[in-house]
Amino acid sequence: MTDPLAEFRAATGGGSGCRIPGARQTMTAQHRDAFDQAMTDRTISAPAIVKVLERWGINVTLHAVGAHRRGQCACSK
Ligand SMILES: [Zn+2]
Repeated sequence: MTDPLAEFRAATGGGSGCRIPGARQTMTAQHRDAFDQAMTDRTISAPAIVKVLERWGINVTLHAVGAHRRGQCACSK
């Protein structure tokens, strides 16, 4: 299921929500798989994830990746 607004939501800065789910929506299935694995792999650093996402044309902050990984973001509630 594709959310036509996913890309816009992902690009929306500020607010209290976590941007990771929105960013995931804009990824291809292949990228999403790799991203999910990277997020749970402790040997992959958060800055590395941010860098790769940038390469994929997705901008997320280091803070968002870190908080999501630690379960300290809005979507862990
Ligand atoms: Zn999150």
